[in-house]
Amino acid sequence: MKPAASRSDVGASYASDSKQLQAPRYRWREECGVFGVWSGNRPVADVCYLGLFALQHRGQESAGIAVSDGMHVDLEKGMGLMTDVFKTRVPSLKGHCAIGHVRYSTFGGTSFANIQPIFASFASSSGGGFVCLAHNGSLVNAKKLRAQLEARGCVFQSTSDSESMLNLIVLNSAPTIEEKILSSLETVEGAYSLALVAGVRDDADNTHEARLIGVRDPHGFRPLCLGRLGERGEYVLASESCALDAAGAEFVRDVQPGEMVVVSRKGIRSFFLRKKARPASCVFEYIYFARPDSTIDGLNVWQARYRMGRQLAREFREGYPGVAPDAVVPVPDTGIAAAIGFSAESGVPYAEGLIKNRYVGRTFILPEQNVRRSTVGMKLNPLRENLKDRKVILIDDSIVRGTTSARLINLLRKAGAAEIHMCVSSPPITHPCYYGIDTSIRKELIAAVSTVEEIHKTIGTDSLHYLTLRGLLESVNDAEGEKMCTSCFHGRYPTDVTEVAL
Ligand code: AMP
Repeated sequence: MKPAASRSDVGASYASDSKQLQAPRYRWREECGVFGVWSGNRPVADVCYLGLFALQHRGQESAGIAVSDGMHVDLEKGMGLMTDVFKTRVPSLKGHCAIGHVRYSTFGGTSFANIQPIFASFASSSGGGFVCLAHNGSLVNAKKLRAQLEARGCVFQSTSDSESMLNLIVLNSAPTIEEKILSSLETVEGAYSLALVAGVRDDADNTHEARLIGVRDPHGFRPLCLGRLGERGEYVLASESCALDAAGAEFVRDVQPGEMVVVSRKGIRSFFLRKKARPASCVFEYIYFARPDSTIDGLNVWQARYRMGRQLAREFREGYPGVAPDAVVPVPDTGIAAAIGFSAESGVPYAEGLIKNRYVGRTFILPEQNVRRSTVGMKLNPLRENLKDRKVILIDDSIVRGTTSARLINLLRKAGAAEIHMCVSSPPITHPCYYGIDTSIRKELIAAVSTVEEIHKTIGTDSLHYLTLRGLLESVNDAEGEKMCTSCFHGRYPTDVTEVAL
């Protein structure tokens, strides 16, 4: 039995990129996507590739896939897009259980060592084995966990909080891998949706098997869903349901907050973490982050955005009764559904006014602010014929730092727009996210340091209108504010954030 990824199992990119290892900087904020697949017998690396490819929008800095037969792990990972990392190797990855990860780190973590999945072996009274882990989310007690593990002699290879979880799991003394995970996660605080492959050896009957495990933290900050592939008892796990479609799987259900699902030869088993917490799934997944063709916790993302747009139109009408706009123009892509909703509610015609270069990635997915600034113009070009002399309602999903909006307003003015009324389908972002969405440190958030009136002047609009928090919550079926995390709009966090507060 070989419960470890040997050097030769790791892809060629390891050698070339390992030069980039950096000294640790203790700051973790990541946007990521995870995918997992289990089959009783056939190789599944290609299914994992397809699923992960559909999650590329969740992270464009690095990608990795780990495939196992329960005895060996074949791990391929590297910096860049899926198509950069898996140019040739996917078909040769062997094994009937796989997990994958796409990652975008925002700070201090751009190194090969931080690319996931990550791997560690463990011992147990019945045999031992190994675990590969892929994590979406961000922990709020990572520093403390890391210090405790280092005091126990743990040597870390990366700066990521995910490695602490992996170490906690493999060092835990519980007899089964399921118990190790449940017990070790009791000390972990914050956001984690995990996909794991566990290779489990049983010395008594000399067998080994690969299990696919999915875990969602007790608040359910990040999404995670379960799908079925055909009738062969094959299952997949994914950050978003759009990845199930891409992998040819049928949606079964969302993994519940606090739930762990285990797929193995025994079928699907469900366990619950001992820690209980109020549900707090991230509303920003609906506003911006998730793909519109995904359904999260029973609500389709496009529908949610459409409803935000309708609500925004109602609120705009009350706030600005004197404005008679000619066109509703979205900032593509994430403003489109809200603009369609706004147009339907207000009767103002929908028009394309900004054309996106589809080969430029998300503006935000570039860690440095100066690079981010210069890419706005490369990414979006005005459609002058639809803008000239028109009074435009410009719809975007959010204003974070204000860089994008200021540039867009400038573009629209140069293209001849007569008036620009910007309507934003979320409330002002006044507080950072500590649970895995990059919404910056507080002083960089324009709404944390400026009033709406000041923002309107800074970005150069004729008027600026934000969706109210109440309107947002109604749009996502959470009128009482009991199910979602909306802390970036008011700073009341569902967990203690003392350790991470910026
Ligand atoms: P800015 O106000 O210049 O910081 O950027 C706002 C733009 O970035 C909006 O058009 C959003 O669509 C997009 N955006 C908002 N939040 C995020 C995020 N967490 N990650 C990536 N892009 C984002």
